[in-house]
Amino acid sequence: MALIVQKYGGTSVGNPERIRNCARRILETQRAGNQVVAVVSAMSGVTDNLIKLAKEVSPERDPIEREMDVLLATGEQTTIALTAMAINALGGKAVSLTGAQAGISTDRVHTKARIVNITPDAVKKMLDEGNIVMLAGFQGETASGEITTLGRGGSDLTAIAMAAAIKADLCQIYTDVDGVYTCDPRVVKTAQKIPEISYEEMLEMASSGSKVMQSRSVEFANKFGVRFEVRNSMNHNPGTIVKEETPGMESVVVRGVSLERNQAKVTIDDVADRPGISAAIFGAIATANVIIDMIVQNVSYENITDISFTLSATDLAKAESALKAILPTLGDEATLRTQSGIAKLSVVGIGMRSHSGVAATMFKALADAKINIQMISTSEIKTAVIVEESEIENAARVVHTAFGLDA
Ligand code: ADP
Ligand code: ASP
Ligand code: MG
Repeated sequence: MALIVQKYGGTSVGNPERIRNCARRILETQRAGNQVVAVVSAMSGVTDNLIKLAKEVSPERDPIEREMDVLLATGEQTTIALTAMAINALGGKAVSLTGAQAGISTDRVHTKARIVNITPDAVKKMLDEGNIVMLAGFQGETASGEITTLGRGGSDLTAIAMAAAIKADLCQIYTDVDGVYTCDPRVVKTAQKIPEISYEEMLEMASSGSKVMQSRSVEFANKFGVRFEVRNSMNHNPGTIVKEETPGMESVVVRGVSLERNQAKVTIDDVADRPGISAAIFGAIATANVIIDMIVQNVSYENITDISFTLSATDLAKAESALKAILPTLGDEATLRTQSGIAKLSVVGIGMRSHSGVAATMFKALADAKINIQMISTSEIKTAVIVEESEIENAARVVHTAFGLDA
């Protein structure tokens, strides 16, 4: 008998028929002689709709985050109850548990809480009594009993963390594609399913826009050594195994290509080139709670320089007002420019550590397609560029082809 954690994402539980499909699969897994904890997301569109409602009732200011969490947690609570009902109707025995009931304790950072501890006693007891446990994804509870959520895509984290806490034999993430592909298969039709990928590559892909896995969940899996498989809830095809790096993996230079839309760029021209200027700029940005991505500072000329950085377009207004307030302190000539409508394309692979020429191949493919590169950044296993958002899909396709990733 194996202990299995399965996770079904929003599309997989998107309507009653699909919930019944998941219920059948969960029940089959148990009837094959296993204990099953099944984590579910909110039905597709529900979380987005709750966020929209919150904004509609609170147009004057961002809704209080504590209340956002009380609201958002209802999406998953609906799905656990419905899936448990479906399993029971099919002759199985299922019990639903919220994150709090399942012993998932988090810190107090509402809407992006971190799991600090899991006490899975209730989960184990219910499994031992022969139940399937339907566990609400994306949520937990603080030490003082406040409801929290784990950031968008957070049901992945619930599944991986619970798998670690109960020492599950298997953790399966069921979604609406067959696994992790060399690029989003909805953008690059020739993308290939990757049979095995290292935690590190999966993490880089997830954090550079491949939303098939929540990046924090991959970080957690890496830290606690939780192997997991990404699979399709609509078929029985083998998926992608995400696991520790093995020797052969480095022979592939580029494992995948990620794209991230809806980015923006802020440039401060003619800032004084003296100690404390960058600290002032990024201090103001941090105080405004804005997360930034790439930073580029130009070579200084006559004690004046330019600094640019990128961020999510949704944070642009916040960043702009934070910087306007300190602009006069950055130099007599300092001016502020912003640009939205840009996107980021990244190529990722642990093979980059030992192979040269990745940047050259990527830049040549973009040049041949007449796509202009606006910014460049590199890390040990990633090379990323900023391009016009209208060109991002074409950029992904030509770069995917240039690295021999097509079918
Ligand atoms: P779920 O609701 O199951 O959590 P998500 O929508 O979060 O599913 O993630 C699945 C989607 O991720 C796919 O439909 C696909 O369009 C997208 N995606 C982006 N990059 C990739 C990739 N490299 N491989 C597979 N899917 C990807
Ligand atoms: N329902 C949440 C979201 O849409 C969590 C998840 O689906 O993983 O982000
Ligand atoms: Mg997801």
